[in-house]
Amino acid sequence: MINNLPVKSLTHKDLTVEGYSRAAVQTYWRIPELKLGFDLGGQPWSFMGTPTWLVSHTHMDHLAALPVYVARRRMMKMEPPLIYLPEAAVEPIERILRCFRRMDRGRLPCKLVPIRPGDEIILSRELVVTVSATVHTVPSLGFVVWQRRRKLKPEFQAFSGDQIRDLRLGGTDVTAEVRVPRVAYLGDSSPAGLDACEAMYQAEVLIMEMTFVAPSHRKDKIHKFGHMHLDDFLERAGRFQNELILAGHFSTRYHPNQVRQHVLKALPDLLGGRLHLWI
Ligand SMILES: [Zn+2]
Ligand SMILES: [Zn+2]
Repeated sequence: MINNLPVKSLTHKDLTVEGYSRAAVQTYWRIPELKLGFDLGGQPWSFMGTPTWLVSHTHMDHLAALPVYVARRRMMKMEPPLIYLPEAAVEPIERILRCFRRMDRGRLPCKLVPIRPGDEIILSRELVVTVSATVHTVPSLGFVVWQRRRKLKPEFQAFSGDQIRDLRLGGTDVTAEVRVPRVAYLGDSSPAGLDACEAMYQAEVLIMEMTFVAPSHRKDKIHKFGHMHLDDFLERAGRFQNELILAGHFSTRYHPNQVRQHVLKALPDLLGGRLHLWI
């Protein structure tokens, strides 16, 4: 396998999270088991097989690899990918792709789908994504991936198999949909974007940003840039119900050791061992 970009990987239960994220450098994540990726700031060669992507916003470090990804899939004779983007991004991206098509003399087949806060994306029978607004310097979106299944309604729990079969044959819907939030992706956002979506705090895995960690980088200023500070994690320590919280998108001003030192000083037990620094 060609190794063209850094990729970190972590397994949680039946899900593998792979990716890399540094502010102003590049951000890309994927969960191979869900056949789903978040953001296209770079495109590791190994990520090409993931057919569906959700783009959080149009800053270049989250988007610049879109044409490369589309071209690679065509070259490798893979199905055109499905890329969900903030509504306002679709038309400019189509224009960019037209320019590349002209320069590269190659087709760039893909399906660009506009999305808005409040949308629900049906990925498959089992998977649904909900879209929420986040708070950044450009229109930006966060995502929660839900696993859904049909479960027997409580009022039928005590019934026998035969009784349930008879009810079914009589046309009664004995099941209801149950949704479990498996993965949430915040993208770039100030804390207001996280607080506005309770499901992000409940998802089994939360992938989010912690751009700033130093006390000297004041958080009121940082919120104006639409980012999170370590102090914001501290203030919300009791709210995270997640099994795993992946914090990335650290500013290039910090050496990885500085990030670890600042975080360990503020949160010595790393939120009960659930907080994982993606650096
Ligand atoms: Zn960013
Ligand atoms: Zn950004």
